[in-house]
Amino acid sequence: MDFDFVAIGGGSAGFNAARVAASLGLKTAIIDGARELGGLCILRGCMPSKTLLYMAEVLHLAQKGSVFGLNVRSARADMKAIHRRKKKIIGEFADYRVQALQKGQFTLLRANAEFIDPHTVRLSNGRKIRSRFFLIGTGSRVSVPPIPGLAEAKAWSSDDVLNLDFVPKSVVVLGGGIVACELAQFLNRIGSKVTLVQRSPNILRDHSPAASAVVQTAFVDEGIELFAGTQLQRVTRDRRGYAVEFIHDGKKIIRRAAHLFNALGREPNTSFLNLAAAGVRTRPNGQIVINRWQQSSRPHIYAAGDCSGPAEIVHIAIQQGELAARHAADIEKLKPVDYSLLLNVVFTDPQLATIGRLERDLDRSGEAYLSSSYPFNDHGKSILMDANYGYVKVIAEPRRGRILGAEIVGKDAGELIHAFSGPLAMKATVFDLLRAPWYHPTLAEIVTYPLEDLADKIHSGAFDPPPEREHPGKRA
Ligand SMILES: Cc1cc2nc3c(=O)[nH]c(=O)nc-3n(C[C@H](O)[C@H](O)[C@H](O)COP(=O)(O)OP(=O)(O)OC[C@H]3O[C@@H](n4cnc5c(N)ncnc54)[C@H](O)[C@@H]3O)c2cc1C
Repeated sequence: MDFDFVAIGGGSAGFNAARVAASLGLKTAIIDGARELGGLCILRGCMPSKTLLYMAEVLHLAQKGSVFGLNVRSARADMKAIHRRKKKIIGEFADYRVQALQKGQFTLLRANAEFIDPHTVRLSNGRKIRSRFFLIGTGSRVSVPPIPGLAEAKAWSSDDVLNLDFVPKSVVVLGGGIVACELAQFLNRIGSKVTLVQRSPNILRDHSPAASAVVQTAFVDEGIELFAGTQLQRVTRDRRGYAVEFIHDGKKIIRRAAHLFNALGREPNTSFLNLAAAGVRTRPNGQIVINRWQQSSRPHIYAAGDCSGPAEIVHIAIQQGELAARHAADIEKLKPVDYSLLLNVVFTDPQLATIGRLERDLDRSGEAYLSSSYPFNDHGKSILMDANYGYVKVIAEPRRGRILGAEIVGKDAGELIHAFSGPLAMKATVFDLLRAPWYHPTLAEIVTYPLEDLADKIHSGAFDPPPEREHPGKRA
């Protein structure tokens, strides 16, 4: 064997698996065939999108300066400058990752790999590499569903939108998932005319209808034209741009725009790996089937990140990669990734963030729960920030008050949700959280209202109610 542990792909899953494997004494290599190293998160995912979304939020605040009594004459997106700034920031993140890859803790092989047998991969430069263990971390790629005309239309993907150095006049966005919604709002805020066409009845369909309705309202208020519950019929392209035909409320509708953004989803990037030669089982969409230790149907071949799911999120890819490396190194007392703590953030404005088990999951499993929510438009800090969309909802076990999950849709929900991540991991109760200090006036203190309501509802002997507290942040 050339190596003990080989990661195929040097993104979030592969890099972190290799880092841990090498630190545990395994002779390790990363194989990555990308021209630019860094992985999706750094180069074309989380970091560039959040750089642009934050800029768009600053722009939005400047444009509504009069709400705060400010006289901002003109606030416009200078796309050349925005593009330069994004490239500089992303370049620095990528350089840092490349340095870590080249530090010498493991071997870096710049090539694409495919299996030729369960213990051997052939590289695109012809070299063969044998290893005791493999970790497949080849990520995902944009999928193009079979909608007539879509493949030929050469629509933009998120890569193209993140790389813009001009304001597109008009864009039709196909899809209503996270990437579609985040980037539709970015495009709208920089000044494009945006039409979003979504198949399911709500945008962000993995979230509750109530939460997605809040984001939907904010989008419409900002001027995004939004069609949900549509059936896409066809896409055509001519010299003037694109035409998208769809059925909505039983009527045929056509929307034209200068540009088309396909945000209908991504698929596991596994078809070039010749997994059949290794005997690795996949689902029909190419997703690698794994067990709770990240092992594929060949126990010495692990998979992590977007190529295996179940959640295409960076911190999950990292946890999975690290777990696989520890399992290969035979570390004792390992715990599988705990998906009951799943944390999700949608970086629209208002943001939508959830953690743990939500009402939909508990209804499905028939478990008893209590829930309570409180709106941002009745909370002192959010009112003074003119951040009135949304609510905080807390879900708890009804007898002891153990926190089961939380859903926040509103200003900075992606930050606020972390008020629950430690407590949830530590199996804290509503009463534990109420013993914690909450500074006034903060956005975070809004969570005390549903917590107190839940405490009242539970009112068990385990709870020693504190004296009645005054809430200066709460509207009378
Ligand atoms: C626009 C956008 C925004 C996002 N925003 C967020 C966010 O805010 N938060 C969040 O948590 N997640 C976000 N995501 C998702 C997140 O980026 C991914 O879940 C994560 O980066 C996946 O990591 P990975 O290691 O599985 O794959 P990748 O990072 O894609 O790494 C795969 C690597 O494998 C290499 N490779 C592929 N095939 C081969 C082969 N045959 N041989 C050798 N090498 C190969 C590739 O070159 C690549 O470097 C976003 C995604 C997108 C598209």
